[in-house]
Amino acid sequence: MKKIDVGIIGGGPAGYTAAIYASRANLSTVLFLGTQPGGQITLTNDLENFPGFPEGIGGLELAEKLEKQSVKFGTETVYDKVESINFSERPFYLKTTAGDEYLAETVIVSTGSGSRMLGVPGETESIGKGVSTCATCDAFFYRGKHALVVGGGDSALDESLYLTRFVSKLTLIHRREKFRGSPILQNRVLNNDKIEVVWNSVVEEVLHNPGGFTGVKLKNLISGAESTLTADGLFVFIGHIPNTDLFRGVLTLDDHGYIVTDRNLHTNIPGVFAAGDVQDPVYRQAITAAGTGSMAALEAYRFLEHERN
Ligand code: NAP
Repeated sequence: MKKIDVGIIGGGPAGYTAAIYASRANLSTVLFLGTQPGGQITLTNDLENFPGFPEGIGGLELAEKLEKQSVKFGTETVYDKVESINFSERPFYLKTTAGDEYLAETVIVSTGSGSRMLGVPGETESIGKGVSTCATCDAFFYRGKHALVVGGGDSALDESLYLTRFVSKLTLIHRREKFRGSPILQNRVLNNDKIEVVWNSVVEEVLHNPGGFTGVKLKNLISGAESTLTADGLFVFIGHIPNTDLFRGVLTLDDHGYIVTDRNLHTNIPGVFAAGDVQDPVYRQAITAAGTGSMAALEAYRFLEHERN
């Protein structure tokens, strides 16, 4: 059983940054990368808004650099998932899927969140080839083009409005005849000349060829009529799912399943911190995740210093 100062669960920008700060502060640090090392940024071809990279940087390349930087300061990276945790006493007991066991004085949870997806044929193979879940990341590629958006909540409305700064036409597909999002955003969407709304309709299939996305097959839920809509890109904004299954019933979660922290990223359990998208239903940017990762590591350091001195 390995004893460590900090166990960091989840290796997106939040987890890697926490690891860089923790190991550089001379804390023995293990970063559990799980099944998707790098997290959601690895789904993005080009991050054009991450500060410090004026030419943009590929998501995978950024993840590699973050890994290199964390290892340079002594982080041990584990390419495995944490399968079980005992938060009832310190040091916290962690066990990976492979059966490796750790005792961690502090834990930083940075398991991120995943975009809820449509789950229809053709979708998975078109992600990154015309199907996106991030307007901030990808809107620029649709300058002067026709984009489709699915969803009716604040995210879909907000991101559609953002996309209209780039696209020439946007078709917003919603499964009901009323948006869920706030009235002010609804008004802006309905009064925007570039946006056409297709109500009461669901995407039944994402159409693609070897070059990528070509359009969608739609079904009107009232009439049952099916139709095909061709476009250059599809943005899916039907909610996010924070990766908190492991912590349900132990850490305090909000109604949407996000970990609740105080402003210094302490959870309800002393010595357990949360950083990145797993505790952030609002910003969800790589840079804000990285920022909270550094904060959580500094808090873990302070927590241990306070205890040891
Ligand atoms: P959300 O509020 O849960 O809305 C999800 C939308 O996707 C709903 O309209 C829902 O339809 C639709 N949907 C869900 N599953 C679907 C499926 N399988 N197929 C088709 N449509 C589906 O999620 P969100 O928009 O990401 O917002 C999450 C939270 O963040 C909310 O509290 C929101 O207020 C907040 N937020 C705020 C802002 C802002 O204030 N600017 C911006 C973004 C997010 P139904 O309506 O029929 O259920």
